[in-house]
Amino acid sequence: QAKEAGRNSYRFFTQAMNAAAEERMRLEHDLRRSLDLGELRLYYQPILDTQTAKIVGCEALLRWVHPVREIVPPGNFISLAEETGLIIPIGDWVLRTACIQAQAWHERGMDLHISVNLSTRQFRQHDFRKTIEAALHESGLNPRHLVLEITESLMLEETEQLMQDLRILTQRGIRFSVDDFGTGYSSLSYLRRFPARILKIERNFLSHVHHRSDDAALVEAMVSLAHKLHMKVVAEGVEKVEQWEFLKSCGCDYLQGFYFSRPVPAEQFEDFVRENLKD
Ligand code: C2E
Ligand code: MG
Ligand code: MG
Ligand code: MG
Repeated sequence: QAKEAGRNSYRFFTQAMNAAAEERMRLEHDLRRSLDLGELRLYYQPILDTQTAKIVGCEALLRWVHPVREIVPPGNFISLAEETGLIIPIGDWVLRTACIQAQAWHERGMDLHISVNLSTRQFRQHDFRKTIEAALHESGLNPRHLVLEITESLMLEETEQLMQDLRILTQRGIRFSVDDFGTGYSSLSYLRRFPARILKIERNFLSHVHHRSDDAALVEAMVSLAHKLHMKVVAEGVEKVEQWEFLKSCGCDYLQGFYFSRPVPAEQFEDFVRENLKD
């Protein structure tokens, strides 16, 4: 009896494993074709000045419009793209598309910066700097309007070549931004070596900032640390007016969050900008 049950649960277990493995293979197969089929889209989420609530830029966020699964959020496929190396062509597409879009906006008088997320895998490519320069060159976008967001894990990969690339790109006017600050394990040594101009506070720190004094103290400390290092600060994930009030009071420079706008397609983003910059 027990043996029977054991066999059944084993069978159930392997079936579940097979199903997960199959699902992953299907997803990988689909993802491989997504670029050619034009299923990848960029959505844009505004980044605003904390004091005035005027838009200063936006973050480009990847969406996969799958024919059956509908819109797949990046959390469900970025890590797969990283593991399979697909992040290289996909990341390239993101960068070029974002630069072209930003340049089109500039030509229509919208003076905004664009932030693009880069995966560690992209930095590891030997021609990493050329990829960035090519995207700028093709689009005609001024490097001053491009921000590259990286997460803290990058510094684990630090090499002399990489540091030199970062210095050269910085000299050209590109800004780097440390994404999800506070969640990695080497945050402070990271800030010491990395030439980043912008620090983005991870949204978990902000969820309770208006009613938990420990969280408030942490955010205040991060803002003041960044300012002492001559960096600007962006708060992610602002969903409530109370969070905004708090960020105003502690001098956080910029913010981003559902309270103002979710990430939206380009046309919708333009409507938002027009409305926002009216008076
Ligand atoms: P991230 O770079 O930290 O981007 C911010 C994420 O927070 C976005 O999720 C955005 O939709 C979400 N967010 C913004 N405001 C709020 C808010 O008020 N409340 C809540 N609950 N969420 C908010 P999204 O678009 O699902 O992207 C998730 C992550 O996927 C990104 O985190 C980034 O690490 C990665 N990602 C997105 N696009 C790309 C890309 O083009 N390349 C690479 N390598 N990674 C990307
Ligand atoms: Mg980001
Ligand atoms: Mg982030
Ligand atoms: Mg994040």
